[in-house]
Amino acid sequence: MKLENKIAIITGGSRGIGYATAEKFIEEGATVILCASRQQTAENAFENLKAKYPNASIDYMWPDLGKYDDVEKAFNKVKEKYGAIDILVNNAGIADATPFTEYTEELFDKIMNLNVKGVFNGSLAVSKIMIEQKHGVILNTASMVSRYGQSTGVAYPTSKAAVKIMTVSLARELGKYGIRVNAVAPGVIETDMMKAVPEEMIKPLISRIPLGQLGKPEDVANAFAFLASDEASYISGVTLGVDGMAMS
Ligand code: NAD
Repeated sequence: MKLENKIAIITGGSRGIGYATAEKFIEEGATVILCASRQQTAENAFENLKAKYPNASIDYMWPDLGKYDDVEKAFNKVKEKYGAIDILVNNAGIADATPFTEYTEELFDKIMNLNVKGVFNGSLAVSKIMIEQKHGVILNTASMVSRYGQSTGVAYPTSKAAVKIMTVSLARELGKYGIRVNAVAPGVIETDMMKAVPEEMIKPLISRIPLGQLGKPEDVANAFAFLASDEASYISGVTLGVDGMAMS
């Protein structure tokens, strides 16, 4: 098993890519701590995972990822309870397809607050723990749109481009502490998030995917498991496309 005895926090772990990543990490032997936006969704995901993997070590929490103090408190509790945090997957995010002229400052802030500041807050809180441990892996969920942009919903690709460059910068800065920082850039993946994307945007996307199909959450989970594992011990600062070689 790739992740035996590793302690992993996964944000946005209640469904979609995060949930599939939780399953994969559990199957690879990790203790998984799910982060969700609300207590109820965190509990539901926890119950479902416990039913499928009764012997696995699973926990859950629901810090406000947009508030540093909240995140730090939650992560410190994990460290106290489990003795370490080996892996953080900054995966929570919200998509958007609002036309530019209908944008509001509030909507822009809401997307940035989770997609960028949430990644910053998680990375900062966990870095303090990982620096002390002298090891750790931080993984971020970027997106194919960080390369290609999006025809509507400008804040979303902007936020994901920020995640990508944050990944490279933190990989540079934290490498000396034995911390690897990488990202995965999913293409079009079949999750609830895709329901927010209009059909007329999805169809042309599929026609430009050489592998001819949408991705599955498991495809992204497999990439995260590899990057989290010691098999990727000399890989840092990369954003790995998991997109069927999509061209937008
Ligand atoms: P999803 O909507 O199924 O899941 C999003 C997750 O983020 C959920 O677990 C949700 O609880 C969590 N979340 C949402 N708002 C939150 C908040 N305010 N605080 C804490 N958590 C919150 O979407 P998904 O497709 O699984 O997306 C996961 C990640 O993958 C996101 O960062 C998304 O941008 C990225 N992504 C998805 C696709 C895709 O095609 N689905 C493509 C590229 C990137």
